[in-house]
Amino acid sequence: MEPLQVLFASSEVVPFAKTGGLADVAGSMPQALKKLGCDVRLVLPLYRMVRQGNFPLQKRLEGLPVHLGGRALEVDIYESELGDGLPVYFVERDEFFDRSYLYGTPRGDYFDNDQRFTLFCKAALALSEQLSFQPDLFHGQDWQTGLIPALLHFLRRRDPFWAGTASLFTIHNIAYQGLVEPDILPLAGLPWEAYTPSGLEYYGAVSLLKSGIVYSQIINTVSRKYSQEIQTEEYGYGLEGILTYRQADLFGIVNGVDYETWNPKTDPLIAASYDPDQLQGKETCKADLLREFNLSPEQAAHPVLGVISRLADQKGFDLLAAVMDRLLQQELSLVVLGTGEEKYHQLFSELAAKHPRKIGLRLAYDNTLAHKIEAGSDMFLMPSRYEPCGLNQIYSLKYGTIPVVRATGGLDDTIVPFDRETKKGTGFKFHEYTADDFWLALSEALAVYRNADLWKTLMRNAMAVDYSWENSAREYVNLYRLARERLAKGR
Ligand code: ADP
Repeated sequence: MEPLQVLFASSEVVPFAKTGGLADVAGSMPQALKKLGCDVRLVLPLYRMVRQGNFPLQKRLEGLPVHLGGRALEVDIYESELGDGLPVYFVERDEFFDRSYLYGTPRGDYFDNDQRFTLFCKAALALSEQLSFQPDLFHGQDWQTGLIPALLHFLRRRDPFWAGTASLFTIHNIAYQGLVEPDILPLAGLPWEAYTPSGLEYYGAVSLLKSGIVYSQIINTVSRKYSQEIQTEEYGYGLEGILTYRQADLFGIVNGVDYETWNPKTDPLIAASYDPDQLQGKETCKADLLREFNLSPEQAAHPVLGVISRLADQKGFDLLAAVMDRLLQQELSLVVLGTGEEKYHQLFSELAAKHPRKIGLRLAYDNTLAHKIEAGSDMFLMPSRYEPCGLNQIYSLKYGTIPVVRATGGLDDTIVPFDRETKKGTGFKFHEYTADDFWLALSEALAVYRNADLWKTLMRNAMAVDYSWENSAREYVNLYRLARERLAKGR
């Protein structure tokens, strides 16, 4: 069988550019797809962050014209590779991408994100044509790539090059929709007939995420539970109607993780290696973590609770604040690594100043420290309001760092509650988004921790769980084929 040719567009990809979990996924899933025989090519913008990484980049195309409204803008295309020779194309246009951040400053989104990502989407198609890479399937991620399915929908009618390219669109987070002014239609060269409630209109604006949903043959999200949740008013952010309508085309595939990067047995960033048969290394990591956060070595006798996160409303820090008094009456320490919204910077700074003996805080983005927290903590807290998949709880499992999570989205799909009787399970879960429910789960975790044998069993259960990409990548290939079948049937 001919390999499936896949054009995979993402606005962030590890190791080139990252703000969150999407980058981890876009950096590892395509490699797993390649192992299954797909010919995958990645495309992303050439941000300043990419340049600063000093990756070897080769110029592939010069002065490629991309039409934006009445203007033809020229872009250069650079090429690098991922893993074992997987091609990665970068769209260079410095006025748009040579900036300090990917999408906006801490004060808000860049005002011209509509132009930036229209250019990116159109350049992705233009470079494919120019390189004679005629994909069987386009695979888009989130709003930044949402225009591509719409462009393909209208291109297929008049351009034989694109007539056979089906589209799969993955929603990594429905709350970020890419809402822009309707004049993006002429800018992108899309007809006004697309500007309807059954097209990409969203209450007088254009939703780029909706564009991806409406014009793709198949849609998926990054866990089964989240694929159900987003069909409800509580989680759908206004798109529950269209998603319920597309129910037969909507799937959930939990993300895999890259165990070459996240594995305590081989992780070069942690103080000592360990595995389920040799757990002593974790104690060295715990001591190292306490030192990193200037916490007393005596705290090693008590549980260390870790948090690594974007500091955003989604992540449930109001619940963490609400249980803090009860939590700090216990003998334990809390280490927090994160950046994001100002109000959470303030919240955690005040808490850390008030309880310096128990709370360690780093308001930064720091990959090495993230690994040290995974390795050195006993528990990992994710009380999220919603969580499409979540990666940190999956990394935590591998590091024997027991997740305490709210049962939402991927957190619910990936964590099995620990049962003291059967000794089965991998973590602690609560359901209602309330401080009392969170506190019940935390109390249970702290109680089990006091029983050293039981805790070791729980750690080993967690460390045995396998979320490597292979299974999920197979499910993606099935969706690729399904999308192509739907297109062949004219849908
Ligand atoms: P989201 O994509 O919503 O941010 P995920 O749990 O899916 O959440 O992925 C978060 C990823 O970003 C993980 O790889 C995590 O380690 C990383 N991360 C988040 N915040 C930081 C930080 N401050 N420093 C280092 N890594 C971080």
